[in-house]
Amino acid sequence: MLIGSIETGGTKFVVAVGSGNGEVKQKLTIPTTTPEETMPLVHQFFRQFNLEAIGVGSFGPIDVNQQSPLYGYITSTPKLPWQNFNFVGALKEKHEVPIAWTTDVNAAGFAEYKLGNAKGTESCLYLTIGTGIGGSFIQNGEILNAYSHPEMGHLLVRRHLDDDFEGLCPNHNDCLEGMASGLAVEKRWGKKGFKLIDNEKVWEIEAFYIAQALINYTLTLRPERIVLGGGIMKQKQIFSLVRGQFKELLGNYIEVPNLEQYIQPVGLHNEAGIIGGLLLAERELMKSTVIY
Ligand code: ZN
Repeated sequence: MLIGSIETGGTKFVVAVGSGNGEVKQKLTIPTTTPEETMPLVHQFFRQFNLEAIGVGSFGPIDVNQQSPLYGYITSTPKLPWQNFNFVGALKEKHEVPIAWTTDVNAAGFAEYKLGNAKGTESCLYLTIGTGIGGSFIQNGEILNAYSHPEMGHLLVRRHLDDDFEGLCPNHNDCLEGMASGLAVEKRWGKKGFKLIDNEKVWEIEAFYIAQALINYTLTLRPERIVLGGGIMKQKQIFSLVRGQFKELLGNYIEVPNLEQYIQPVGLHNEAGIIGGLLLAERELMKSTVIY
């Protein structure tokens, strides 16, 4: 059985085919330009295979509400050519197979839950801290989407006493993404994160914001595991700082798992989004298969 998977990003699309258990067999990268240019290349790649389902993890915001007339659309994205683009509709026109449609962060979180560092748990909070910040929550095999998909990167955070950076979120200035994304680190310190490894203050401030976010997710969702990915979390020294700040800020208010177990790096690295697309497409296929 061959399944298709698409991970859309601001600069590139990754398209792949693989098996329903998440094994990637062939992969191609396509530049993200406009739907008119990018989508024909997606169709061309998929047409070589006899696919049974396709999974999409898309940049957002997207409409994931199956009752909505705009289900399957990319909605108010700042990537203007993709605004109000009917992504699922465009796929369905060319490929008559079940399509799983979710955000890039949901797809990656789902893969970590099934096959990565949250494998074997009942509930996982996945957070990616890169150029931007996004999160997903999966419990008992279901991704949390209520009125719409969560936007966990835009939590409001308490400011670090030594931090006078104004923040860079266009909507909230000093929300979590505005203060702790890779872009925020670069703008605050004048260098990219990986060039600031030896500057302890950078990571103390960064860990302070990330720990606050993890406390908020912990208090609202009580996950069994938290998995942290994205470019910023490649700085391995930050994990012990985040765990330390988390313990200090939470106090002894509630019981959480052992922090080494509870707060972990990703297990699947850059492939999580694509693997998640395969897994979600396979699940969509099973749902749509009627047994007589
Ligand atoms: Zn914001």
